Formats: sequence, structure tokens, C-alpha cells
Amino acid sequence: MVAAPAGSVVWGWVMVEIVNPGPSHPAASAATRTIKHRTITRPDLTRRGYTCSAMPELPDIEAYLEALRPRLVGERLNGVTLKNPFLLRTFDPPLDAVRGGTVVGVSRLGKRLVFEVETPSSGTPYFLVVHLMIAGRLQWRPAAPPAPTGAGGASEARAAPTPGGRSSAPKGNVLAAVEFSSGTLFLTEAGSRRRASLHIVQGREALAALDPGGMDILSATPERFSAALGRENRALKRALADPHLFSGIGNAYSDEILHRACLSPLKLSQSLNDEEAARLLQAAQAVLGEWTARLVAEAREAFPEKVTAFRPDMAVHGKFGARCPACGQTVQRIVYADNECDYCPGCQTGGRILADRSLSRLLKDDWPRGTPGPGDED
Ligand SMILES: [Zn+2]
Repeated sequence: MVAAPAGSVVWGWVMVEIVNPGPSHPAASAATRTIKHRTITRPDLTRRGYTCSAMPELPDIEAYLEALRPRLVGERLNGVTLKNPFLLRTFDPPLDAVRGGTVVGVSRLGKRLVFEVETPSSGTPYFLVVHLMIAGRLQWRPAAPPAPTGAGGASEARAAPTPGGRSSAPKGNVLAAVEFSSGTLFLTEAGSRRRASLHIVQGREALAALDPGGMDILSATPERFSAALGRENRALKRALADPHLFSGIGNAYSDEILHRACLSPLKLSQSLNDEEAARLLQAAQAVLGEWTARLVAEAREAFPEKVTAFRPDMAVHGKFGARCPACGQTVQRIVYADNECDYCPGCQTGGRILADRSLSRLLKDDWPRGTPGPGDED
């Protein structure tokens, strides 16, 4: 939490959980209007070094997969060059074990990307597991076309540009370059915090050990969804972005899902009735489905190099101060840890502006100070 600077107003009351009025709400209820309201001067978080979470989530990862599969499956992995040794979080099997192998699949494990590699010397597949965390991104440089070698001469695709050496190398901090026969995949990470990771494991059992175990929302049934939601009594924002409960949802899409469902981000998961739980699942499937379809279609046209959590067409995420496209009210935000939660008071909280400290209070038991916010780790 960022300390309020001198001169800013401090909240004078304790927030209580909102009883959501449903999709068609009147203005703030009488009960809300009786609560003392003061104008809050928020510290300028951007100027204080605050950065919003922009972790690739399920639709972004699916877009990467769409772009990577035709470029990598069936191709030879020529080698991995680490530019930052801290990226690699495993030591056995060694990096060289995958050299010369063939990529047989590219898939997703929560918010992680998984490259399956088979080598001639081992009957058990290797898996390169990449977690981009918040600032990690991928860039692709195709191999140069083979140089003509004359009639009957063999030729091999020349390796793509190496990081730092050529003008076409990616901008930003390159952590690793993975060379395939078809081109080079660069892993970059903006900023100074090194949080992206690479694990190399052998066998499906070792891969499964990296799975945070969250449910796939798109194939979830109402019963399984409700059971997962009710496992603990948490703010919905926190529950949706918990990778142990649901797969691939982070800060951005949890905001969009809760807005679509017309539910308060602070409503407690065990307080949902059947209708609200069904509405939440429906909203989650719709939001993730729509964005996945859209980003995947874009990835068919060009490699997704501009992955961002803030998209102009989002309803509330990253839209603090803008008008809600559904009701026209001003989008508000709650800031906590290194994150923010954006919501529309008109659609989600019966007109009530939520206080930052209320979220801290609601989450203090399962979200110790100094640990990453929802969706930051899985
Ligand atoms: Zn609204």
C-alpha cells in the first residue's frame, strides 16, 4: 500500500461489503447516501514509481500459442542462449539436454507456456516451461531464407539474428534466445525486476508438478465452479485471480469479468447465491471466450509482440476516470500492493465508491503485506 502524502484526506469510516443490486440498479441506495462522504485526494501513484500489473493472462497466452504452433511444431531446437542466468530455475536436466530435439507441441499450463521437445537420445519428452510473469514478453525473428548454393548443393537455414548483435534484435532486456530451425524466439523482460522464469523438466509427472491446478473456466460446469468459489471466503477479485482455483485469470480479466457479472470485486465468494454464481461463470466464460477469439485471430495475422493488459476496448480495466460503456458512470479503482482493481460503481456496487483500505482489510488474512497481489504468481 502506498502511504498517503501529507495533505491528502484519510477515510473516516470503515467500508462494509456491498449488497449487489443486480444488473439494473437504481442510483445509490438510501443506506449508501447516509454514509459520510468526503472527496479523496489520491497520491499520484504513477509518479511514485507505481506500476500496474500487466501479466499476460489466458487470452494473451492463447494468442502466443496460436502464433507459436505453426512456427515451432516439427522444428528442430538448435539451442538456448541464456543472457541472464537467473532466468533458469532448474539445473537438472541441463540446458543442453534439449539441444537438437524436435518441438512436438506447444501448450499452456495456467499462465505458463510449455514447449514439448523430443530428443533422439531420450524416450521421455522434455518440457521447457516459461512464465512471463508481469513484464516478460516474447518476440520472434524468422530465420533468413537459405542462401542459394547451386544445383544439388545442400543448404541450411541461417540462424536468425542474435540478441544485441543486429539491428533487428528485440528492444528491451533480452533474457534468453531460443534458436529453432525456423527462427529465434527471444524472451524479454521490461523494467529492472527479474521475475520471468524458465524451468526445464523431463517427463509428464515433472510437468504436472508445476501446475498450480486452477480450473479451466471455459469448460467449467456451474457445480464445479460454485464448489471452487465456495472453498474459501474471499473477495471475488482475489478468488477469481487465484491460480489454485481458476486457471489463467489475472488482474485485467478479473476486472472485466466482475464488471460483466455486475458484481462487486469485494463481495465475498461464499456470500454468492446460485443466481449470482451462475452469472459470474457466464460472465467469465463470455469475457475470456470473446477476448481469446479476438486475440487469437490477431495472432494469425502477426506475431503478438504488443501484449498488454490495457486494451482500449476493455470496459473497466485500466479505465480509471473514464465512462463505463454500460451505464456511463465514472470508472473507479482500488489500489493495493502493486496492483489495482478497476470497477464501475453504477454496474457493480450500487453507486458506492469503495475505499482502498477495505480491500486490505478483507484480504489481510490471505494476503500478507509485501507479497504479490492476485494473479502475480502461479
Ligand atoms: Zn457501469
